[in-house]
Amino acid sequence: MFNPARVLIEKEALTYELGQTLYKQFQDNGTDIILLESSRTKGIPGTSKKEKYQEGKNTLVIGVRKSLDFQTCKPSAHFQLPLVTGCIGQCEYCYLNTQLGDKPYTRVYVNIDAILERAKTYMDNGEEVIVFEGAATSDPLPVEPYTHALEKTITFFAHEPRGRFRFVTKYTNIDDLLTLDHRGHTTIRFSINTDKVIKSYEHRTPSMANRIAAASKVIDAGYPAGFIIAPVFLYEQWKTDYKQLIKALAEAIPVDKHGGLTFEIISHRYTTKAKNRIRDVFPDTTLPMEDEQRKFKYGQFGYGKYVYDKDQLQELKIFFQEQLGLYFSRSDIKYII
Ligand code: SF4
Repeated sequence: MFNPARVLIEKEALTYELGQTLYKQFQDNGTDIILLESSRTKGIPGTSKKEKYQEGKNTLVIGVRKSLDFQTCKPSAHFQLPLVTGCIGQCEYCYLNTQLGDKPYTRVYVNIDAILERAKTYMDNGEEVIVFEGAATSDPLPVEPYTHALEKTITFFAHEPRGRFRFVTKYTNIDDLLTLDHRGHTTIRFSINTDKVIKSYEHRTPSMANRIAAASKVIDAGYPAGFIIAPVFLYEQWKTDYKQLIKALAEAIPVDKHGGLTFEIISHRYTTKAKNRIRDVFPDTTLPMEDEQRKFKYGQFGYGKYVYDKDQLQELKIFFQEQLGLYFSRSDIKYII
């Protein structure tokens, strides 16, 4: 469970029951509490970029979600559902590293009911089923014991014929979600990787075995589920390790449950902006980010990224098709990129 070094609470959040409950809980715990006049944060220490990053990651902000206009979330969902922003994990390659500023704190919202009411209006606007993504700017699970936002959201969507909810996580505290009446309207995907990748780059996240165990419980509880294997790194022993990962998954999940599972495989890539930020925050990083060993691919929005070359990607594709074909022939491979 996330034990923040400090908690910043917007005064307005104290007008909500959840805000009051959390205030009292952190007061009883003896956690440093800073009251905020507005959504502008203050009091997070740190001078170097590394320190600011660390302190940000140890800070929880409790606020009221003001903007209830949801961002689009193509192609995996229609809209982002803003339940949490930020994540306590310290994955070196994380896409959030370039999104959340120098002090990447986690912000939770006390007006969950208003957020869900707003989601209803997006569903009322047409005939099609609308999909909401709950992890577009966060991993929502580590702060779930404080807010129970996922619990409320899963229960809410269970009764929405034209709404579906999905989120992805690396965390394992899913027990409170297992007994919910979800009616198959929430999809839970687990982001998994080899132990070597987890130990080297995914700091403060659960082990491969624990993630697999959590995923297996979620599948047993009847949730639609899937796996994102990402980022895939082509290091010396990669084939042996990823083979072992897929085999361990197959051993944990009974074959009759393979039918509904999805797999998404994403090779490692980086932008120059991300590389610079990562090297500021993790000066000793061993992430493979040598431009000359990669192919530069122009992006949609004027910035490009460094990807593995064509032959490497082809080898990766064939490898995962073969392995997943061997162990998960009934599952759906969404993409391998
Ligand atoms: Fe980023 Fe996910 Fe790691 Fe959190 S768990 S730091 S969101 S990659």
